[in-house]
Amino acid sequence: MSLALSRVARKPVTLATPVMLMVEPTTACQLKCPHCPTGRGELTRPTGSLTLDKFKQMWDAIQPAPMLLQLWNQGEPLVNKATPEIIRHATSTGAKVVLSTNVELLAKGDLADRLVSSGLHELILSLDGATPESHAAYRVGGDFALVEQGIKRVVEAKKKLGARYPILTWQFLLFKHNLPEVSEAKRLAKEWGVTRILFKTAQLEAFEQSEGERWLPDDPALRRYDLVAGQWVLKRAPRPFCNRIFASAVVQWDGTVVPCCFDKDGEFVVGNLLEQPFEEVWRGEKFQAFRQRILTGTRPAMCANCTEGLSGMYSQPKLK
Ligand code: SF4
Repeated sequence: MSLALSRVARKPVTLATPVMLMVEPTTACQLKCPHCPTGRGELTRPTGSLTLDKFKQMWDAIQPAPMLLQLWNQGEPLVNKATPEIIRHATSTGAKVVLSTNVELLAKGDLADRLVSSGLHELILSLDGATPESHAAYRVGGDFALVEQGIKRVVEAKKKLGARYPILTWQFLLFKHNLPEVSEAKRLAKEWGVTRILFKTAQLEAFEQSEGERWLPDDPALRRYDLVAGQWVLKRAPRPFCNRIFASAVVQWDGTVVPCCFDKDGEFVVGNLLEQPFEEVWRGEKFQAFRQRILTGTRPAMCANCTEGLSGMYSQPKLK
């Protein structure tokens, strides 16, 4: 409704509080994935982690509470030891919480039990291979045995606690090197007790011809980019509007708010929820100016790599 009115009025109208908030538990990660700004060492903002008290301060200031909390951004959320308690607090306010992880830390200690008992609704398992070799090819520094152990621990914890949730979603990014493992991944998903497996086209962070040729599948149907004059560009131009900035926002670990998750390094800061009241950020001058910019078609460069222009967050390709 806010977006529809804004398009008619040609200026931002924000009727409601955000339906969804993405919150970054930490920017730290134990892996070095080649197309992740954290793994590439490209983030210029400080590395750090959110505390439970600071999360409560920010979350409780939003009334009514968002319906959905996506608990990741840059970094591996489970590096932050407070993550299960952050989830517990958000679910106590009625929100659904979804967490995305590279899984390995779930093999350690009682983390799997703590995560399942936190009330988490969905756990996205970011795992792009069905063998140790292909796993380590992209998840550089990763250990496939730990991933397997981590998934099994969560499945066991669900059984032990009689928990229906979290839904376990295996998110498999399609690269050239892991395509031959699609069938094996489906088989492993069943064997391990994963709820579902989704195949997603991979996102690039570097767009030179050689990068895409190294990582992306040869079949154009299995990638979201086309090669144009030596650069990989999204197949479709982004839509001339953006739902996300009227329905959600991204909060970095230190309370900094940016419009969306494509602003990975905090280029378009619109406020800080640890230093300002929520209303002052959500309907403040900086956020409204950013929305106005998008409404009038003067988009920043980051929008050129955005899935708002595709059919959905999960671009489910048809596998032959
Ligand atoms: S990158 Fe641009 S189009 Fe995509 S969600 Fe962010 S502001 Fe919207």
